[in-house]
Amino acid sequence: MQFDNTYFSKLNDFYAECDADIPADPKLIKFNKDLATQLGINTKNMNLSSIFSGGEKPEGANTLAQIYAGHQFGHFNPQLGDGRALLLGEIISRKGKRIDIQLKGAGRTPFSRNGDGKAGLGPVLREYLVSEAMYALGVPTTRALAATSTGESIQRETLKKGAVLTRTASSHIRIGTFQFFASRQDNDRLKKLADYTIERHYPDAKNHENPYLNLLQNVANKQAYLISKWMGLGFIHGVMNTDNTTLSGETIDYGPCAFMDFYDPKTVFSSIDKNGRYAFSNQPLIARWNMARLAETLLPLINNDADKAIQDATKIIESFSDIYEKFWLKEMRRKFGFKTKQEDDAELFDSFFETMADNQVDFTQSFRALADVSEGNPDNLRNLYLDTKLLDTWINKFKKRSLLEVGLAKNIRKENPIFIPRNHLVEAALSAAEFEDDYSQFEELLDIVTNPYTEHPGKEIYSNPPIMINSNYKTFCGT
Ligand code: AMP
Ligand code: MG
Repeated sequence: MQFDNTYFSKLNDFYAECDADIPADPKLIKFNKDLATQLGINTKNMNLSSIFSGGEKPEGANTLAQIYAGHQFGHFNPQLGDGRALLLGEIISRKGKRIDIQLKGAGRTPFSRNGDGKAGLGPVLREYLVSEAMYALGVPTTRALAATSTGESIQRETLKKGAVLTRTASSHIRIGTFQFFASRQDNDRLKKLADYTIERHYPDAKNHENPYLNLLQNVANKQAYLISKWMGLGFIHGVMNTDNTTLSGETIDYGPCAFMDFYDPKTVFSSIDKNGRYAFSNQPLIARWNMARLAETLLPLINNDADKAIQDATKIIESFSDIYEKFWLKEMRRKFGFKTKQEDDAELFDSFFETMADNQVDFTQSFRALADVSEGNPDNLRNLYLDTKLLDTWINKFKKRSLLEVGLAKNIRKENPIFIPRNHLVEAALSAAEFEDDYSQFEELLDIVTNPYTEHPGKEIYSNPPIMINSNYKTFCGT
């Protein structure tokens, strides 16, 4: 790995240097060869299990824990930071992109508070599966480079096997990173961070008449796009705190996330999200709220005249919903296979979601079945519904709209996955790995969800929702 560590060299007050724990008995569980190739990592003389468990510091790495603050469930915490993550450094990918390499679960840092700095095997494999599935589904995301087991036990409700995930990201700069300095009114460091972020992610903003306002606009666009991708897949992030919202616009923090099987806009999986703040249908609103928190931090950089700064930033925040709607419409046209734009499209899409919600049908299967509908075979879709009255009316509208398109079925199949990492499949794969040391289900599921648009003969069962609706399915943070 050829490191080129700008966060370390340019932002020296923004982190604490610290070392990983030496694991007792590290073993490589999974290494992402494709990603390693994209990153130009030459694994020849590398001891992968040792490096990716924290046991050996690779040459050129500057291990550090980043500092940040954040709004968690709406409450501001002025001091968070990487409590169980260590940045090894940055490398330049084959395509010339600067990429962070980070170990998650390699031990305590100065920001660990009461935590142990460790990660469990189950959650590490879960992040590996889901983040790689998201990548294959075309969603901006951090990725998984490696998973190792440490040979140690960690204390959760019961003793669990310890593991380390190696995560890659365009950067780990979060809204919370800006909030850390803004809340201390440290405008010098705030500016340094903003300039670094512009240089790394939005270099064109430098030429804008107001680079910091343009930074805000760029991040708003990226976040609006990201959420439209989530909404097009039935993905629920589960913990959209400002410390889990990246400036790059990549999905980060796969703790409590999950995909919906049966469509219900109010769906919440996270065990601690008691009021449904991060429910499926709330995600665009929360993204807007998070953008307002970023805007607040940038005010002193946007204009010395506070009123003028607020005015300019508010315009961007107020336009967020429109930006999001445009991306959503684009995402839906893609999913419905439409290449042309018609005025009533949004209405047609909304009414499809209404038919789904009334029947709690499977999100992923419904969209995929639209291809059959467009080929004159509506039964694959109709069979998912208990009551088809509303649906039949909708199908007639869809058929009329379809006459304006060519190659619809092909488009729909190209854009809608057969396979997503369904909760019951993920849980089964993780249990087999954790309790029986059997990684075959994990491997099989990973292969399927990272090739989600193609048939996998004999594996059709992986495209099905669970037989019973499990309304008690819960996910967890900080595991
Ligand atoms: P998360 O819910 O994963 O976004 O984590 C929120 C904060 O808690 C971050 O600052 C994490 O670094 C920290 N954290 C989560 N789990 C642990 C752990 N086991 N040990 C130390 N810090 C942790
Ligand atoms: Mg986090």
